[in-house]
Amino acid sequence: MKLISIIVPCYNEEEVLPLFYGEIYKVINQMKSVHGELEFELLFINDGSKDRTLEILRDFAEKDKNVRYISFSRNFGKEAGMYAGLENAKGDYAVIMDADLQHPPKFIPKMYEYVLSGEYDCATTRRVSRKGESKVRSWFARKFYKIMNKISQTEIVDGAQDFRFMTRQMVDAILSMKEYNRFSKGIFSWVGFRTKYIEYENVERAAGTTAWSFWSLFKYSLEGIFAFSTAPLALASLLGILSCAIAFIMIICIIVKTLVFGESVQGFPTIMCGIFFVGGLQLFCTGILGQYLSKTYMESKQRPIYIIGETEKNIRNEKNK
Ligand code: UDP
Ligand code: MG
Repeated sequence: MKLISIIVPCYNEEEVLPLFYGEIYKVINQMKSVHGELEFELLFINDGSKDRTLEILRDFAEKDKNVRYISFSRNFGKEAGMYAGLENAKGDYAVIMDADLQHPPKFIPKMYEYVLSGEYDCATTRRVSRKGESKVRSWFARKFYKIMNKISQTEIVDGAQDFRFMTRQMVDAILSMKEYNRFSKGIFSWVGFRTKYIEYENVERAAGTTAWSFWSLFKYSLEGIFAFSTAPLALASLLGILSCAIAFIMIICIIVKTLVFGESVQGFPTIMCGIFFVGGLQLFCTGILGQYLSKTYMESKQRPIYIIGETEKNIRNEKNK
């Protein structure tokens, strides 16, 4: 028998969870009829939802012994959710997918076949269009991937998603990366392994609203840059050299000017410009240093990535009493 763990991070997904449950079971039943050797577990991560998500998960777990859930003590973010899922999954294979059906479950059988063939260790989807997304958002996303791939050795594929089917070997490799500042798109690519990209058109979420604002996406992309590239540190030195060169040229110009035209009290604006320019550069570079320092600070605390509030074991034990 082979066990497939389906890991689903959920944050305020009360509207979509029943839909998701129905859809995923269609696929599970279909796969079981084709591959008799398969068993499934559904592992939901409730990431501190403020709606009825936890009640719904308790309900699933009571009715269905293949459902497990982990409920965090507060919102820790999707990255923590995925980590908790991988850490607690018991399967020979693990699938990570969103609850909102933006990651169509119909791809799972295909992914399984790619991995089963032995040619790949991981199968994932890649959206070729960003239909249903605002133009500004797509533009920034594309720029992010471009910059990221220029300045980091770790390749991050544009349009790649967190919807992944992985072997146990790859799951263990991901779990061996215990960093606190997690950027999964980078981590998936950093651990390597042979990955099959299945291309598809973007679909909109089945119900509910996205938890990602433009600002949170922007912060997440900076997270990616600082976690997988040290190029900004080099940029700081580069800007320093550049401004020194400019200053040097200015000094020569001023000396020549003084020798030719004599001393005068003019040039006050030039001095102010210089002061502001260099001051700004210095602050900018200190800011970059600060970013890396703050990441190092958080890592050095070695805090847990997530804290469990309750799991399905709580309700199952209560029943046995
Ligand atoms: N999610 C989570 N914690 C968060 C935010 C989101 O576990 O703090 C989950 C969410 O429930 C969903 C998945 O991550 O299953 C993707 O979130 P969303 O659909 O809001 O993002 P988008 O698809 O817009 O990128
Ligand atoms: Mg979504």
